Amino acid sequence: MSESTGTTSPVNDARTTPWPEGVVARYLTVAGATVDIVDKGIDERWRYDTACTGCPHKDMSVVEEYARRDAQRHASVCRALPRPAVTA
Ligand SMILES: [Zn+2]
Repeated sequence: MSESTGTTSPVNDARTTPWPEGVVARYLTVAGATVDIVDKGIDERWRYDTACTGCPHKDMSVVEEYARRDAQRHASVCRALPRPAVTA
């Protein structure tokens, strides 16, 4: 039996792709991009960086709860498509 499909869904990619190092939370946007929260550690002035993979949206907070709130808010409204995967 052959199970070959020629299509992949960006939503599935976002859910199955391993998270980049330092990412502590990831929110899926309505368009299939993600808003990632990166713990910058105690050495950084800002502890949590929020970054959307579909658009230039970025934010930062010293409080994880605020970072999560921003990520949730942005993920619920952002309609920018995720950038295609880049091979380094
Ligand atoms: Zn965005």
